[in-house]
Amino acid sequence: MNNQREFKKIISDLKASCDLDLAQLKVQQDHPQKILGLMGYHFPEELFLAADIHSLYLEPDNKPVMAADSLLQIFACSQVKSVLAQGLRGELEPLDGIVFGHGCDSIKNVAGVWKLTFPEYFVDYFRYPTFPQARGTYEFLRAECARLLKRLQHVSGREITEQDLERAITIMTVIREKLTAVRELFLAHNHLFPYRDLLTVYRAVFKLEKTLIQEKLTQLLPVMEDCLKTNQSQGELTNNKQPIVVTGSRIDYWLVEDIEECGASIVADDLYWGSRWLKTQMSNSSQKAALDQIIDNLQQRIIEPHNYDPHQARLKNIIKTVEKTNARGVLYIQYKFCESHAFEYPTFRAELQKAAIPIYLIEIDTDYSAGREQIKNRICSFIEMI
Ligand code: SF4
Repeated sequence: MNNQREFKKIISDLKASCDLDLAQLKVQQDHPQKILGLMGYHFPEELFLAADIHSLYLEPDNKPVMAADSLLQIFACSQVKSVLAQGLRGELEPLDGIVFGHGCDSIKNVAGVWKLTFPEYFVDYFRYPTFPQARGTYEFLRAECARLLKRLQHVSGREITEQDLERAITIMTVIREKLTAVRELFLAHNHLFPYRDLLTVYRAVFKLEKTLIQEKLTQLLPVMEDCLKTNQSQGELTNNKQPIVVTGSRIDYWLVEDIEECGASIVADDLYWGSRWLKTQMSNSSQKAALDQIIDNLQQRIIEPHNYDPHQARLKNIIKTVEKTNARGVLYIQYKFCESHAFEYPTFRAELQKAAIPIYLIEIDTDYSAGREQIKNRICSFIEMI
């Protein structure tokens, strides 16, 4: 098969798997596995994998959220409402439970509402310190991971050994390394590998079973390298679109499409559903016990807007990324009612403006049908301006 066709085939297979509903995903498992939904930030995913549990991040959809509106406070963001609405419609029944990750107020609220609304579900709440580098957080995370481990053993009905943990660390390390390499190819050659396909790869990493995604990324990388060689030997085309960086919580296909139609291309991202998840590096200290390596990993996470970041590491990283990629500006994507990102944005804007980098905020909703044209006009004006 020609390598460009092979690339498209891998991406379309991944997209088809990501678009499956939970019942279909369950049917496709290669051996019976419990499925736990994740909602929030900063999970020790190695623990789920070691317990042979398929953990997947619950994605919002664009259906109406009225039923969830009546159960949640007005300030909850639409991502959270959308997932609760899926639960109320019965679409999450194939799940064996749900684990919430400590984060913003919306997540904290939906965790409480979920427990009351669906008492039959297994529910857990993984606590992550607001300031992960503070003194005492190592011990705190150790206790929290040991607690979660016990609960996961109960769900899976099997004891998790040191070997299970080590195997899980190896798989997650390979996934992060391969995804880093794949992402670099996507972003550096986006005329050949469109950003919407990178979004499919991110979704697959968040949703599909980890051994499957490890296998798919291992297949994808050499295919992309071959495509690039063929393309370079034929005289590589360049992209004449305006290079921009996107930051925020997550991006969806419709928004990528609108950004590209406005004449821009995404040359770097700083999204939780993307590079922020990816940038965690596993410690290489094999002398340490597996659980300690997992805690090291948790402490090195790129911290989120709701965490305390005295060194403004994310902000500095965005400025550096803009300089490195020669991006013309930054698009800041915020879900309506997301207080965490709304709180962070003014500081980002002030600091980027000092560095003479244009930044523009767009507020989006999971149901984009009503405001899409207006949002697109605003993005186009920003792109024309830069
Ligand atoms: S978008 Fe904002 S409010 Fe919604 S889950 Fe993420 S951080 Fe929380």
